[in-house]
Amino acid sequence: METRLKALYELQKIDSKIDDIEDLRGNLPETISSLQEKILEAEVKTSGLDEAIKTTLVRRNQIDDEIALLKSKAEKSKTQLYSVKNNKEYDALMSGIDHAELKILELSEEMDRLADAQKKHRENFEEADKVVKALQEELEEKKLELKEILKSTETEQLQLNHQREKALVKTNKNDLAIYNKIRTNKKMAVAPLRKGACNGCHNKVPPQRIVELRKYDKMHLCEFCGRILIYDEEFSNI
Ligand SMILES: [Zn+2]
Repeated sequence: METRLKALYELQKIDSKIDDIEDLRGNLPETISSLQEKILEAEVKTSGLDEAIKTTLVRRNQIDDEIALLKSKAEKSKTQLYSVKNNKEYDALMSGIDHAELKILELSEEMDRLADAQKKHRENFEEADKVVKALQEELEEKKLELKEILKSTETEQLQLNHQREKALVKTNKNDLAIYNKIRTNKKMAVAPLRKGACNGCHNKVPPQRIVELRKYDKMHLCEFCGRILIYDEEFSNI
């Protein structure tokens, strides 16, 4: 039992070091993924606006063509006016010219509305594009920050991962299940005694329990915090 308890304690010491390294990263990984999400959203907005600008341009080009066509038709009708043979022909040509001019007027109005819309889309696009660029810049900074932290802790992290694998092999399966369960909400699952108290919650451990802990013949959980208590000679009086 002593070997089993000490194996867990060893694992805890390694995990605490790994926790310290992870603490150095702080919330950088979360910040990075939230920035990436925001960039995606902002890019959807800019590409929507870009699409709107293109659609407006296409329609404006169509209108240009339509107006040019109507103008040339009207011009042609106007020259034909000089060679009409009767009133009926004259009226028909005049009505065609009026119709073309009215249509040109309508199209010109649509053109003005489209120009206004395009201006607005362009402004919104530039605004949204600025947001994307600022977010991308922030993302790059955070990525670099994280990269530097990872680089400075890389060797230690690898060594610890290796040590952890070795420590895991030495643990008992059931003990490990208890350890992992405590670790889901407490970083320290195995608490050494320190000056007669649990080092996890700092509550005093009864003297009789301390005597039992020193025998290492069974697993004792702290009655206050539920951590696995362990007697560590070196640590007990620090
Ligand atoms: Zn405790």
